[in-house]
Amino acid sequence: MNFVVLTIFPEMFNPFWEHGIIRRAIDRNKIRVSAIDIRDFAEGKHRVTDDRPYGGGCGMVMKPEPLGAAIREATQKAPLSKKILLTPQGRRFDSSVAHELSSSEGLIFICGRYEGVDERICLDFIDDEISIGDYVLTGGELAAMVIIDAVTRLIPGILGGRESAEKDSFSGGILEYAQYTRPRSFEGHDVPEILLSGDHKKIENWRLETSLIRTFLKRPDLFENRALSKQEIEILKKWCVDIERIIHNQSLYGPGALSGGQ
Ligand code: SAM
Repeated sequence: MNFVVLTIFPEMFNPFWEHGIIRRAIDRNKIRVSAIDIRDFAEGKHRVTDDRPYGGGCGMVMKPEPLGAAIREATQKAPLSKKILLTPQGRRFDSSVAHELSSSEGLIFICGRYEGVDERICLDFIDDEISIGDYVLTGGELAAMVIIDAVTRLIPGILGGRESAEKDSFSGGILEYAQYTRPRSFEGHDVPEILLSGDHKKIENWRLETSLIRTFLKRPDLFENRALSKQEIEILKKWCVDIERIIHNQSLYGPGALSGGQ
């Protein structure tokens, strides 16, 4: 996959390309990356890329000519790439958008600054507009990094095992199970016994159960558009029975009844 970023701050990307999984993906030729300076396409001695807004008002707007020329050049070099304008007004980036983008030949990101880009750029030069959330950043560079990072880890062969991305939060529509590593006991908290049992079936069931519990507690909205499997329905039904039993015992015998009042 080819990632091209158009920005007035290309040097921001140097440390990003140089670390972790992104670095490994570049070294293994799984991704190609470049950050192109929009100023290289600006006219005049001062290579100006912004100007005052028509109609007045505060701030500056990114001029269309250098941006248009930069996008054209990037498209010529990577003709099958999707051109994405980063903007808080775009469709919201999430796991499903990351999966969708991971099957692209390449992605060209246009990073705005100041008050954003001249509207005419959106008409003929852009395939998609993406936002990384309902807040306003000072520029599109961090948004480009977020998207490149999330998309790269979905490209087959990038992570240690294909497993890792498949079990991650959101991949199956719910949050990932609780994770533990050594030591076995930490500040009074022990690793759940079942994870030490070596019984893979029981561990898998326990993990599914913790995934469901934490999704229910932290992100119940995720259940709204997701079909539950038969096994998941059984787990949820079991909780309902347990919860009803607690409520029933409390209303009959009061708190502490379940533990014999101790
Ligand atoms: N005036 C614009 C508005 O209200 O829609 C915001 C401009 S913002 C200060 C400057 C640039 O940061 C934008 O052009 C865009 O490239 C980037 N940016 C800001 N917030 C973003 C977000 N949530 N997602 C993606 N890009 C964002």
